[in-house]
This record gives sequence, structure tokens and C-alpha cells, in this order.
Amino acid sequence: MWMSAWRASAVFAPQPPCLPTRSPALRGTAPEPEPRRLRQRRARTSLRAARASRGDYDAVVVGSGIGGLCAAATLARYGKKVLCVEAHDTAGGAAHGFKRRVPKLGTFRFDTGPSFFSGLSAPETARINPLKAVLDLLETEVLCHRYESFGLCLPEGHFTHTRGFGKEVLAEVSGEAAVKEWEALLQAMKPLAALVEALPVPALRLDPSVLLTAGPFLPKFLAAANPLEALQLKDPFAKTLSRAGLKDPFARRWLDLLCFCLSGLPADGTVTAEMAMMFGEFYKPGATMDYPVGGVQSLVRVLTEALAKYQGELRLRAEVEEILVERNKACGIRLKSGEELRCSTVICNTSCWDLMKLLPPDSLPDAWRRERESTPACRSFMHLHLGFDMKGLDALQEHYICLEDWGRGVDAEENALLISIPSVEDGRDLFGVLKFERF
Ligand SMILES: Cc1cc2nc3c(=O)[nH]c(=O)nc-3n(C[C@H](O)[C@H](O)[C@H](O)COP(=O)(O)OP(=O)(O)OC[C@H]3O[C@@H](n4cnc5c(N)ncnc54)[C@H](O)[C@@H]3O)c2cc1C
Repeated sequence: MWMSAWRASAVFAPQPPCLPTRSPALRGTAPEPEPRRLRQRRARTSLRAARASRGDYDAVVVGSGIGGLCAAATLARYGKKVLCVEAHDTAGGAAHGFKRRVPKLGTFRFDTGPSFFSGLSAPETARINPLKAVLDLLETEVLCHRYESFGLCLPEGHFTHTRGFGKEVLAEVSGEAAVKEWEALLQAMKPLAALVEALPVPALRLDPSVLLTAGPFLPKFLAAANPLEALQLKDPFAKTLSRAGLKDPFARRWLDLLCFCLSGLPADGTVTAEMAMMFGEFYKPGATMDYPVGGVQSLVRVLTEALAKYQGELRLRAEVEEILVERNKACGIRLKSGEELRCSTVICNTSCWDLMKLLPPDSLPDAWRRERESTPACRSFMHLHLGFDMKGLDALQEHYICLEDWGRGVDAEENALLISIPSVEDGRDLFGVLKFERF
């Protein structure tokens, strides 16, 4: 614990302002014209130095999960003086991992949070993944293994899922009529995927400045499909499936399960926009999935490094007790230690229930607060992490999606299971690691 806190303060301590000085030898001579970027950086650095001496921040971000780190590093990238505060002794939030040393066998490294990724290694022209767009903006990247298939263990049998799911799996289980329905669905999803791709998520915001950020993308968005089609993006995915004429029970069940694995809810609770994006990622020609080399911690590492590169700060073991509000505006935070930090913007990237606890009781309209507090929580799931000997096993897939009984519904207790075996691609030796995620 101490090591992580020490490392973090060493890596993320604010850098001293480094202003170029003029050498006495140059006195009297005309200075070389300074490149614009250097001038801008110098101006930003002096502004930060001036603010640092007053001890305040442009923005404090609460929580160093992937979302908080993206927000903090992006603001730092745009020259804001940013502090990201994290209650835990390690960054990453849901996305982290741990190691276990086993005598004579070595060290096993496990991921705990997200394991399904796509679009992280897409070329810059295809940055449909908002996280990839942020990484590009931060001029960094995470190296990924790319893979094309995963395993399905379903009541109908064991299959390998590829982008040819229709002709390979559906044809075997349900026959040719179902394949035709599937192909019609793929056609129906194309303009929706094009719409999602035309308007990058980072361009969307909820204030009038959306005209500036999203405006440049509107012509491409409007050309991608007719505006009425765009309205479908907010519909439940089940409605989109019915509209496309997909009736085959096995295909509907598979998509229910896929929705549940991606969003935590079956197709009638999953928004079409999310599935439009994922359909492109799963079924377009050349579709691949990604797994960060070194696990999800590599993703957290590149984000924390980017934050440091742009002189943002990260403080671990700094639990926020209250968000300070004055004249109806958040103006700082108070840590559990009692320390108060002032800033002009607070971004709170905790859960919505935690956010409500951090705000003074009278700072929000009651109705708004009640609505947020009544957000239903995702049901719990169990994780089992195993290290195992891979010698002599048949070729394994990196992921398996398993379901025991369709009749009980994909979201029934102890019915669905995800198995992730990143060491299939990232193995350093003959031992594998496995995360077994039972819903
Ligand atoms: C088991 C699991 C599997 C998942 N699988 C996938 C997947 O395969 N693919 C995918 O894309 N997504 C997946 N997700 C979702 C993805 O991991 C999350 O959406 C993402 O990591 C959430 O990031 P976040 O920054 O929004 O929040 P979080 O990661 O929840 O971060 C919030 C942070 O705020 C901190 N915090 C809370 N209160 C305070 C306070 N008072 N003061 C200071 N800090 C505070 C917390 O300690 C935490 O670090 C999965 C999630 C889980 C849990």
C-alpha cells in the first residue's frame, strides 16, 4: 500500500514550471522567433504556476476509474490545472487487477473488471470507440491483442462465435430461414451503425456548446441516414429487432444474452444506440475484438501516464467527504482528512448513489435527487479467479459466453456465465489465468 502511494506521489507530483531563460550571451541580439506551440505551452505553464501558488485547481475530478482518468487527462491536455482524487490506494476503479505468487509456479496476474473490448486498436479513421477517441486525443495508445472468435456454451451445444455467426451457428441450430432473417437484420443495422459512427460520443454534451462540438459532424450524421432512422437509436433494442423482422427464437435469445453481457439488461432494456455500435464491432467485415496486452491495468497505466504527461495530478487514498457548494455552484471538495481544495469545476465520477451522499442536502432539487437515488442497481455477480495448467488442453478461446437454461431468462440468478482467459494470448508460460464471472 505504501509503495503504491509513494509511487503515485513521485510520478504525479506537479512538475516545477520550466520556463526557458535567455542566456546573458544572447543579450542584445535579436531572439530567434519562438515556435507557436512552444509559446502556447509556455503561456499555459506560467498560468498553471500562478494558480499553483494560490493552491487552487481549474478542476477536481472525484474518482480515478477509467471515466475519471479520461476526464482528468483530457482537461489537463487542454491546459487545465487538474487534480484527480481517489479513495482507493490504486487507480482504475472497477478496472484493476491483482497478483498472486505461488511457490514453485511463479506469479499469476489477474484482471478484475472489464475484459471485453473492441475498437481500441482501430485506426484513427474508425474511432467509434469513445475511449479510443480519448486515447488519440491524449496522443497515447494501449497495445492490444486482436482476436476474431469466442466460445459459446449454450443449451443447443458448444459453438465458436465469429462474425459469420449467421451462416455458421444459426444455420446449424435454426436453418436457412433464420439465416435470411439474420441477414436482413445486419442490413437494417448498417445505417444505424453509420449514424453512431458519424457522430463521435466525445462531441456530445448537454449544453448549448454542443453546437460547436457536434456541429462539424452534423452533415456527415444527416447524410448517414434519414433523421427518422436516427430516432430509432433511442429505442429498446428488442423493438429494433422486431422492426427488422427477426423472429427466430434462437437468434432472439442469443441477442438477449449478448445485450445482457454488454449492458447488464436483456434486449428490451438495452438502448439501440449501444447495440448499433456493437453490431458494427461484432459483425462488420474484418471485425476483431481487443484485449490490452498486460491486461486492463495497461489501460489504466496509459491513462495515468497521460495525466502526468500533461501535468495533471493524481492523489490516491484521498477520499472525498463532501463536495463544497457555494451560491448553487460546486466550488471545491473536502477530503476525509479535513483538507479543503478549491476549484472552479468539480467532476464527480463516482456512482450516482455516492454522488448524492457527497452533496450538501439542500444543494439539489428534491425531485432530481430522488430520481437519481432510485436508479436501480445492477444485480450482483460472483467472480472466481483461477490459475491453471494449460498443458495438454485443446486450443482455448480467449472468452466464453455460457448459459444454462433459456427458459429461466438470460438475467436469472446463476444462469449466465462469462469466462475470460487472457493468458490464451498474453501467456508468459504454460499456466493460464481465468476469470469466471457468474451472474
Ligand atoms: C466485473 C465487471 C466487468 C465489466 N466488464 C466490462 C467489459 O467487459 N467491457 C466493458 O467495456 N466494460 C465492462 N465493465 C464496465 C466498466 O468496467 C466500467 O464501466 C468502468 O470501469 C467504470 O469506470 P468509471 O470510471 O465510470 O467508474 P469506477 O470504475 O466505478 O470508478 C469510480 C472510482 O471512484 C472512486 N470513488 C468513489 N467514491 C469516492 C470518494 N468519495 N472519493 C474519492 N474517490 C471515490 C472509487 O474508488 C472508484 O475508483 C465491467 C464492470 C465490472 C464491474
